[in-house]
Amino acid sequence: MIATPSRSLSIIGAGLAGSLLAILLSRQGWQITLYERRGDPRVSDYESGRSINLALAERGRHALRQAGVENAVMAKAVMMRGRMIHPREGEPQLQRYGRDDSEVIWSIHRKDLNTTLLQLAEDAGATVHFHRRLHTVDFDAGYARFIDDRDDQPHDIRFDTLIGADGAGSALRAAMNRKQPLDECIDFLDHSYKELEIPPTDDGGFRIEANALHIWPRGHYMCIALPNDEGTFTVTLFLPNEGDPSFATTNSGAEAEALFARDFPDALALIPNLRRDWEQHPPGLLGTLHLKHWHMKGRAVLIGDAAHAMVPFHGQGMNCAFEDCIALAAHLLEQDSLGEAFAAFEADRKPNAEAIQQMALENYLEMRDRVADPQFLLQRELEQA
Ligand code: FAD
Repeated sequence: MIATPSRSLSIIGAGLAGSLLAILLSRQGWQITLYERRGDPRVSDYESGRSINLALAERGRHALRQAGVENAVMAKAVMMRGRMIHPREGEPQLQRYGRDDSEVIWSIHRKDLNTTLLQLAEDAGATVHFHRRLHTVDFDAGYARFIDDRDDQPHDIRFDTLIGADGAGSALRAAMNRKQPLDECIDFLDHSYKELEIPPTDDGGFRIEANALHIWPRGHYMCIALPNDEGTFTVTLFLPNEGDPSFATTNSGAEAEALFARDFPDALALIPNLRRDWEQHPPGLLGTLHLKHWHMKGRAVLIGDAAHAMVPFHGQGMNCAFEDCIALAAHLLEQDSLGEAFAAFEADRKPNAEAIQQMALENYLEMRDRVADPQFLLQRELEQA
């Protein structure tokens, strides 16, 4: 167990990983301060337009269980028994993930999850400062500067150690990289995504099967939909950036509607605000982040997307980030110094994260193409028999 005079840690980013880590470390007796760029999601609008709901798998649930927060999170989760494949022609077909309901994944709303974890972090003793965007870090002097984006005012703090849970575009990673190169490389995918919504029925029910992850595989591209507990579905269209069809050829809402009418007619009938949402939501970029190092001795360490952002096709980015939190908390208990704990954490988690990054890239092909292939389905049935 590490004995430092202050036992204080500053976490940058109060998103999914930052909040969960704050719960775990506060309970271990660390004095935790979280700095978050946005406002408090419990009192203000949550930024939308980016993966509104997420597939929670056993890896993530296991981490939540260990943190003692599983029940609070699962109260709002929707079970997904398998993939509901919507072919170009014919009826949708459910491909179960396992033999029964013990092998399923869950759909969870990002805002519900984030606010639940934030509240539990505060209850555990962590302090959260909102409207604090990390701007610059002076590692030698131990000072970090944050900006409040509402009035552009700087706020400086003294820190002992920084933990970067500030997502794929991590400002802490950029600051660490300036101090000591991390050999950063980002492989952007030549496909992007856009989110749309299927509203509930007039009496608040689901318009299509609730307990499934819906997929419309179309070869080089695909559409998916995940349920939310209030009866809506978040629809995500993944499309190439160039070629036809692509985001380059589908600019206006009318062009998007024409694409859906041709390729996803049953989905089009379920998305009344397709034209408006298409024009209001910018396409999101997708990429895989590779780093040689995740930490700077005992001074700073990166977790979650800040360390290993991945494409979303295995639904494992958050699940992997939650596993990071459990691992980092365990190494902080086991090691004698922060430097040793961060090095052990990196050695433990980096190979796992790299494996999941690769599987996520491979799964795009399976989801957009192979799930509709009769040969693939036959093979799958034989494997499960
Ligand atoms: P984030 O959730 O990005 O949190 C970072 C936090 O840091 C945010 O609150 C942000 O406001 C804050 N921040 C950013 N910059 C600063 C700064 N300079 N100063 C202070 N604060 C800052 N994963 C799954 O497991 N299952 C899925 O089904 C799934 N689906 C996805 C679908 C899409 C389309 C995408 C893009 C991703 C998906 N993911 C999924 C991945 C998942 O969203 C991420 O892996 C997860 O959010 C990572 O958590 P994090 O806490 O590391 O980062």
